[in-house]
Amino acid sequence: ATTIRIGIVGHGNLGRGVEAAIAKNPDMVLAGIYTRRDPAQLKPLTAGAPVYRLQDLAGHKDRIDVLVLCGGSKDDLPVQSPQLARDFCLVDSFDTHARIPEHFAAVDAAAQAGKTTALISAGWDPGMFSINRVMGEALLPDGATYTFWGKGLSQGHSDAIRHVAGVAGGVQYTIPVDEAVEQVRSGTRPQLSTRQKHRRECYVVLKDGADAEGVRRAIVTMPHYFDEYDTTVHFISADELARDHAAMPHGGFVIRSGNSSAANKHVVEYRLQLDSNPEFTSSVLVAYARAVHRLHQAGQMGCKTVFDVAPGLLSPKSAEQLRAELL
Ligand code: NDP
Repeated sequence: ATTIRIGIVGHGNLGRGVEAAIAKNPDMVLAGIYTRRDPAQLKPLTAGAPVYRLQDLAGHKDRIDVLVLCGGSKDDLPVQSPQLARDFCLVDSFDTHARIPEHFAAVDAAAQAGKTTALISAGWDPGMFSINRVMGEALLPDGATYTFWGKGLSQGHSDAIRHVAGVAGGVQYTIPVDEAVEQVRSGTRPQLSTRQKHRRECYVVLKDGADAEGVRRAIVTMPHYFDEYDTTVHFISADELARDHAAMPHGGFVIRSGNSSAANKHVVEYRLQLDSNPEFTSSVLVAYARAVHRLHQAGQMGCKTVFDVAPGLLSPKSAEQLRAELL
């Protein structure tokens, strides 16, 4: 089997997760980590891992089979993915759902021009959850799809509370409401409001002299982020925040509830329970990097999403092996 040479672009949570995932996949090697910062400042998980400046990447075209882009969806990927897709096959985790069509168009134009293969918006949501939503709708057209997130740490909501006046630090957990999940699992296809599906729990460290009740009110009434949810705010110390809330767990469920006839209903559920959101996301990105490499070798250029990739292409096993072992 061929070895797939992976380049990591950006070394944050996902970048470190991709390093860990490459170590679990014997058919992959780490060709290099590329960063906008001073390479000497980075601490790769793998001792001696090669770290380069991002601008060196252009000269490394023949050292790399697939780039895994680990930048942020807000500012990094909209620029980096179209730019790099001209010269490299790549995978990204772009998760701004409303902007996926325009991101696809920009990356596709670059990949078609450069005759490369790119796959955008891999991960778990978008990603594995998207596949399960498509499967649910296709297999049970008369039905309803429900996505629940959590219990998990939400980066965006945590950032929002850290920007409230009087707050020194904090995190936010999104938690599915148990009764709502049970109703959905029962197959009754309930209509659920935003408030009925999820609640939010915040752990907040106050600045010296800050007014706790004022901070609580500013959080629970914050438009878009908290006002449509039941939100609980717990005040904790900086030590407790560091000790109890440094991990990044996440997960959730995609449930399709539908009828094949008036008499028979079916409930199909896909569940994720993740100790580390970035490490799982990175594991998905690396499996898709393998698929991108194979698509490219088969002459399939342009931009793809998880909907376009056959499951067998994700596996290190051959088609023959998969038919013998897993069918
Ligand atoms: P980070 O903020 O940890 O990293 C983003 C980039 O910021 C890095 O690539 C790095 O680029 C730079 N960076 C990292 N640490 C530092 C630092 N200490 N100082 C300065 N710059 C730094 O983001 P994540 O890795 O957690 O997530 C990346 C994106 O992945 C998110 O924006 C999210 O949209 C997406 N995501 C998608 C999921 C999905 O299911 N599809 C799930 C989870 C996340 P550089 O090395 O070049 O400086």
